[in-house]
Formats: sequence, C-alpha cells, structure tokens
Amino acid sequence: MSNDTPEVLISESDIRSRVAELAAQISRDYEGCDNLVMVGVLKGSFIFLADLSRQLKIPRTIEFIAVSSYGSSSVSSGAVRLVMDVRGNIEGKHVLIVEDIVDTGHTLKYLTGMFKSHRPASIKTCSLVRKADSAEVDVKIDYLGFDIGDEWVVGYGLDYGELHRTLPYIGIIEPTD
Ligand code: 5GP
Repeated sequence: MSNDTPEVLISESDIRSRVAELAAQISRDYEGCDNLVMVGVLKGSFIFLADLSRQLKIPRTIEFIAVSSYGSSSVSSGAVRLVMDVRGNIEGKHVLIVEDIVDTGHTLKYLTGMFKSHRPASIKTCSLVRKADSAEVDVKIDYLGFDIGDEWVVGYGLDYGELHRTLPYIGIIEPTD
C-alpha cells in the first residue's frame, strides 16, 4: 500500500466551483418539485452529497445505499452486490442517485435498474467523476462533475483501502494490487 501524498488531479477550489455549478443546475431542473430524494452511494459519495445537497435551492430528502463490487482491491469484480438498501419508500418520488465515481458503469447500471423496480416518478444520475475511457456498459450520467483518465483517484470521499477519504482534493495514487 502506498503511503505517499497523492498528487493533485482536481484541486479543492475546482471541486468547490464545479459542485456549486451542479447544485445550480439541479436546482433549476427540479424547480417546483417537492419530493426529490437524493440517494448517496456509500461510502465514497458522502462528502460530495453533503456539499451538493447543502447548496440546493429546492426541498430534498437524503437516503443512502451501499453496494460492493471492488472489496478492498482496485479492480472491479463486475458483479455488484447490494450491501444496504434505502430506508424510506421511494415509490412516486423523484430519485437522484449520487455517485462518487463511474468507472465501468456496472454499479450505476445496477442501481438504476434496481430503483426502477421501486416505481419512482423519475430517476436521474449524478457523479462527481467519470473515467471516460473505462466504460463497459452504457449508462447515462445526467449531472457530471469531471471526466478523468484511467487512474486510481482518492480524496473528497474516495479511498484506497479505506485511506485518503478526507483529503480536500482529488489526487492520484499508484495502487499496489
Ligand atoms: P463501476 O461499477 O463504475 O466500475 O465502479 C464504480 C465504483 O468503483 C465507485 O463507486 C467506486 O467505489 C469505485 N471506483 C472506481 N474507480 C475508482 C477510483 O479511481 N478510486 C476510488 N476510490 N474508487 C473507485
């Protein structure tokens, strides 16, 4: 495991301004909506969801869901497993799934499919980061923060072996597995 300080890829101030832009766009798109449910995908989205949700100008409730496809490694197993479901009923509500990062797309595809079966009024997706060249499945991201290359990133909620989540910026590390 690397103990080096991750090299800055996206600075704290760039994240701050992009999150503000996304919040403004989401507030405009959902204007008049009184039953938006933001569903954060644990653990990686917790800081992004906290910052994004606090800047919205519309009513919203917060739920969390947890899935697993990587375990403690940096290589996706491709098989997504639900570890924790939402607590509230989402039938008839407007669901916005908030992801930290979309890599192969399997996780987001699985989640949108799963939420459809709960019969929400609508489902949209938001991700802070996408690995533009790594997609294996076609999945729409309605609100995207940044496109990056195929490197392992940490910080602003993202980890490597549970480390680095609280870094204020997004940085690159060299995985050892
Ligand atoms: P996907 O199913 O799209 O391949 O993977 C999505 C999940 O993989 C993310 O929610 C995240 O947990 C994890 N992931 C993919 N790439 C990275 C990365 O570069 N850094 C971190 N920390 N997690 C990643």
